[in-house]
Amino acid sequence: MTPIPIYEDFLELIFSSVVPFGGHFRGSDWSRENPDEHHQNFARFLTAQPQFPRGRRNSVTVVLDEDFGEITTSLAGITSDIIEACFDLPTTTAMIAFNSSNTMLFRGSQLRTKQALDRLASYFKSDTFSVIILTPGYLCPLDGCNFVLDEACAPLGAIVSTARYSLSPNLGAPNSLRRLFKILSHESAHLLGLPHCCRWQCNMNGKNSLHEVDSHPLQLCPDCLLKVCYSTNQEPSNHANSMRKLCSRFGLDREELLYAALCDKTLRKNLIPGFCSQS
Ligand SMILES: [Zn+2]
Ligand SMILES: [Zn+2]
Repeated sequence: MTPIPIYEDFLELIFSSVVPFGGHFRGSDWSRENPDEHHQNFARFLTAQPQFPRGRRNSVTVVLDEDFGEITTSLAGITSDIIEACFDLPTTTAMIAFNSSNTMLFRGSQLRTKQALDRLASYFKSDTFSVIILTPGYLCPLDGCNFVLDEACAPLGAIVSTARYSLSPNLGAPNSLRRLFKILSHESAHLLGLPHCCRWQCNMNGKNSLHEVDSHPLQLCPDCLLKVCYSTNQEPSNHANSMRKLCSRFGLDREELLYAALCDKTLRKNLIPGFCSQS
C-alpha cells in the first residue's frame, strides 16, 4: 500500500493540534543563520529516498562519553528508553573516554567532531543502523570555529553535546529530562533522513540555543510524525502510546496529555490500515 493517499486524511485528523511556525520561525535564532532552509513535506521526503532501518540493520548504538561521571550509567538507560519510545528500535550502549586523548580536544576542552565522528565505524556491528555519541563537552567542527551543539552525518551517526542544557546533577528534574528527550529525538530523526521542519511548531524545528530547545515542542507535526512512523515501520498510535508512557515516567505532564490525545485520535480512527506493511 502506498502511503501517499493517506497523507491528507492524516493531516486533517490531527491538524487541530498543530500550530504553524509562521513568524516565530522567521524570527528564530536558527532561521536568521539558515535562511535557505525550506519545508519538506511527506511526499518529497519519500522522493528523496532516505535509508530506513530495515531487516537486520535496525538497531541504534548510543556511545556515552565517560566525562559525564556518575550519571553516565543512568544516562545510558535514559537515552535507550528515549530512542526505543520514539522510534521503536532496539538499542545498545557503549562508553568512550574522549578526555584521555589530547588529539581529540581543541584548546583542551572542545571535542573535535570530525575526529569523534571518525570513531563511529568502530561501533558498527552487522545489526547497527546508526550510532549516536553523547558528550557533556562543547563541540568543535573545525579548529577555531564557534561552539556547536550537534552534528549529524545521516544515516551513519551523530554527535550531540549537552554542554548548554543545564542538566541537573542527577537528571531527575523534568526540565533536564525534557531537554534530553527533545535533543535526542531531534537528532535521531535527522539520522532517519528528516531535515528541519519550517512549517509547523515541531521538535524538528532548527535549534541554535537553549531558548529554542525550551520553546519548541517535544511533539512532531503531522509531516514529521508520518516521516518517522513510515521510516521506523510503526503505526502512529504505537508511537504516541510509547511516547505517552515515557512522558508519564519522566513527569512531563503536559506532554503526556498531548500524547494521550494523539493516541486516542489515531486509535479510534483505525487510521492507517496496512501502514506497516510497506517494506
Ligand atoms: Zn537539527
Ligand atoms: Zn515537523
